[in-house]
Amino acid sequence: MPASLSSAYGMTLDDWIEWMAEHDQSKFRAKQVVQWLFLKRVTSFDEMTNLSQSLREELKKEFTIGLLPSVRLTGSQDTTRKFLFRLSDDRLIETVKIPANANFDGDRSGRITLCVSSQVGCAYDCKFCASGLAGFTRNLTAGEIVGQVMTAEHETGDSIRNIVFMGMGEPLANLTQLTKALTILNADWGMNLGARHMTVSTSGLAPQIEKLAKIPMQIRLAISLHGATDEVREQIMPVNKKYPIQRLFQALDVWMAHKKQMVTFEYILIEGVNDSLEQAAILAKRAKSLHAKVNLIPYNTVEGLPWKRPDIPQQDAFLKVLSKANITATIRREKGHDIDAACGQLRLQEEGDWLAVPTSPEK
Ligand code: SAH
Repeated sequence: MPASLSSAYGMTLDDWIEWMAEHDQSKFRAKQVVQWLFLKRVTSFDEMTNLSQSLREELKKEFTIGLLPSVRLTGSQDTTRKFLFRLSDDRLIETVKIPANANFDGDRSGRITLCVSSQVGCAYDCKFCASGLAGFTRNLTAGEIVGQVMTAEHETGDSIRNIVFMGMGEPLANLTQLTKALTILNADWGMNLGARHMTVSTSGLAPQIEKLAKIPMQIRLAISLHGATDEVREQIMPVNKKYPIQRLFQALDVWMAHKKQMVTFEYILIEGVNDSLEQAAILAKRAKSLHAKVNLIPYNTVEGLPWKRPDIPQQDAFLKVLSKANITATIRREKGHDIDAACGQLRLQEEGDWLAVPTSPEK
């Protein structure tokens, strides 16, 4: 596929209307195209039979449908699935399908969650995370973000009703494409996913949180906090030097003024780094000030990194400090650990490396 073709999934209805106008076509054609894409789920332009042959040819000159070729689908014993997708420039990204009984936030709604990537690699260099190890390559386009969801549905036959931007990359460092993707995922002409079922997770880019607060969609926000004081957070998250906790909380006030949803703090428990009960008490205070929920995540080991999770009594003691302070807090039941699909285990893959990993492909 020539790299110059763009993904049809990255076009909003307004983009299609504009494109049709430029090609002397009516607005109605734009509606037909999005119906073929998102409702009828065609996999080629030739299936768009109510468009003229010449219009289909014009479309083919500029676009691909946008399904992502899947290099590999790995299955975990707990029915988590990890996809490795190839992009048009041969870069690889990972997307994880999480079973209905194990959703982010302890959601028991029976919805399947897809954990999507927003960038190839990541520039933020969190010390505990696999995704940043090989640095940053590029932003994903809106088409590549929507493409992950469309392809996961296409390949598994499942209906994905929850999306978390917790795969590879920092979504708020790719705000333009993120916002466009959210629009397409949410639109009734698009994937028609409720905004409340989409969670953007960030390492804490304060100015971008303020910008995202102003988009008119009731999406959810998760903050990767991982330290309750600047001293602790700074050791493991260099972004904290740029946006210290006080600056981050200013941004969260702006968020709260615009959105009805509670914010979630994600807090990885790393032994001897951020798991003291003193940190728990400060975290409780911070969560209370914002009416935020806390998601505790026992650290998932990453090959080549020295960190490990505290033992279960320490995890429980940390949780207890939060519950005693009346904070809604859960320890996330991890999924997909056995296939390196758990949080923070998604990393830049060389195809050769990936294929060398023993896996149990599902399809
Ligand atoms: N850059 C965004 C999106 C990535 S989300 C963010 O930082 O929020 C991935 C989540 O997994 C983040 O909360 C991240 O901090 C967490 N994470 C990273 N490495 C992890 C690890 N080894 N174990 C558990 N969680 C990890």
